[in-house]
Amino acid sequence: MNEAEKSLNFIEHIIEDDLANGFTKDQLRFRFPPEPNGYLHMGHASSICLNFGLGNRYNAPVNLRFDDTNPAKEEQEYVDAIKKDVSWLGFQWDKECYASDYFQQLYDWAVVLIKEGKAYVDSQTAEAIATQKGTPTSVGINSPFRDRAITENIRLFEEMKAGKHESGTHVLRAKIDMSAPNMLMRDPIIYRILHKTHHRTQNDWCIYPMYDWTHGESDYLEQVSHSFCTLEFAMHRELYDWFLDQLIDPSLVRPKQREFARRNFSHTVVSKRKLMQLVEQGVVSGWDDPRMPTISGLRRRGYTPESIVAFAKTIGIAKRENVVDVSLLDFTLREHLNRVAPRVMGVLNPLKLVITNYPEGQEELLVAENNQEDESAGTREVPFSKHLFIEQEDFKEEGNRKFFRLKLGGEVRLKNGYIIKAESCTKDPNGNITEVQCTYDPLSKSGSGTEESLRKVKGTLHWVSQKHALKAKVRLYDRLFTDPTPDGHKDKDFMDFINSNSLEEITAYVEPSLASAQEGDRFQFQRMGYFVVDKDSSSSQLVFNKTTGLRDTWSKLDAS
Ligand code: ATP
Ligand code: MG
Repeated sequence: MNEAEKSLNFIEHIIEDDLANGFTKDQLRFRFPPEPNGYLHMGHASSICLNFGLGNRYNAPVNLRFDDTNPAKEEQEYVDAIKKDVSWLGFQWDKECYASDYFQQLYDWAVVLIKEGKAYVDSQTAEAIATQKGTPTSVGINSPFRDRAITENIRLFEEMKAGKHESGTHVLRAKIDMSAPNMLMRDPIIYRILHKTHHRTQNDWCIYPMYDWTHGESDYLEQVSHSFCTLEFAMHRELYDWFLDQLIDPSLVRPKQREFARRNFSHTVVSKRKLMQLVEQGVVSGWDDPRMPTISGLRRRGYTPESIVAFAKTIGIAKRENVVDVSLLDFTLREHLNRVAPRVMGVLNPLKLVITNYPEGQEELLVAENNQEDESAGTREVPFSKHLFIEQEDFKEEGNRKFFRLKLGGEVRLKNGYIIKAESCTKDPNGNITEVQCTYDPLSKSGSGTEESLRKVKGTLHWVSQKHALKAKVRLYDRLFTDPTPDGHKDKDFMDFINSNSLEEITAYVEPSLASAQEGDRFQFQRMGYFVVDKDSSSSQLVFNKTTGLRDTWSKLDAS
């Protein structure tokens, strides 16, 4: 085996085998098939990267197919959000397809099945049909309608389509085998009556095809060569193939269903039903709440598409389900942000600092590098004055030898500026420190070339000038769930593990260069972490969401 072959995953091996056995490259076509009944999440990102990644690897088209066969749960809002998310991740689909575009073709094929004696209208209740299905260890019972005359089946099916029957009164079933070992082959339902308006076909239809009948036939219509789905569909493959056997034109590409493991992530849930519950019960502010594991939530939290794609590639595709630690995504994210995020200064918990020997009313502009990892990012100017804010945690009256920040009698450098020495401090009646008084060394200015400017002191602090700083609202997040596997407990519901303190809003002071920051702009607040401008920002109020810390504080917390 050569190096290139070793790096192939099992899905790529399937394709390579097909290519080796006569399948031609120009016949390859893939699809990503979301159901528009919710927003995409991190699990979908894996499937997107798999399918579009194959498209890139083999230079083959990838369709974006909306599996919109259930009007009860699907909406245009979700279609729009899904398109936005796939594009944002950096992928381009070949065709935008909808299963609903195939409703007429699917109906026509169903009529063919009926005419060939391979489908029948069953007029029993859902309960009766379920009971007759049998169990994995006992065979099913034939429906009393199984041998209904073909003409009668056609008449009833047409009436169902024409809206002459109530929801739930009849279904169309494939006539396969009520004693099949695979229960899905026991005369599966392929159509149901549903008097509901569909977000695309409006009231054209009141019968809707079931997933199994729709999916493979849609793949076939689009000439998708490889149809990848998650493991729970492994048992459905037999049915997928049975349906194709009934219709296939052997001169066309026969789609192949193969399965891979659904991705689960620690400290969160990725089921649309559960995410919907969080939205509907107001636990979060919406599908794009920055605490949500949705693509739109991650975007609003400041994650980069590059980091999500890199993460999906790193974890790859598996044959068996397991839980992936989300801190791996944070690691990938930090690595990317470190390279691309401009550095700025922002003080989250302000403490007043006055430089007693700096002239009142004097101001100057200090030059600051935008990103020491990237020289092309250039520099900017930051205003400095006598009255500053520093971070509360950066000053202590007394600190031990390991406290390299500011303490009485000690020295630190103000980032991009001067060396200061803490001389005294003021306290309120409760003993809280309200101001630190310092002196500065006028010759120590960074970059000025003097001997003093090169003098090394142990600590460097970020700061903002009180007069020039902008007030900003900053949202700090903790994990949404207190348990590493919130939906992995038999005796408890995932909602039992909601962290009631997952959001904190504070007022921070940031340097004035941020006045021109736009929604989605990402920054490193030096020493404090990565932050992104939120859509709630306005001209009068900047709002930042904290993306992540500079280091992996989670794993430290978990270990303690
Ligand atoms: P959910 O359980 O979140 O509702 P779903 O499978 O019903 O997920 P779809 O919209 O049908 O959601 O999914 C579109 C595609 O994404 C499918 O091919 C599905 O298998 C895949 N997918 C969904 N969730 C995951 C996941 N956690 N890991 C990998 N692939 C996933
Ligand atoms: Mg689904």
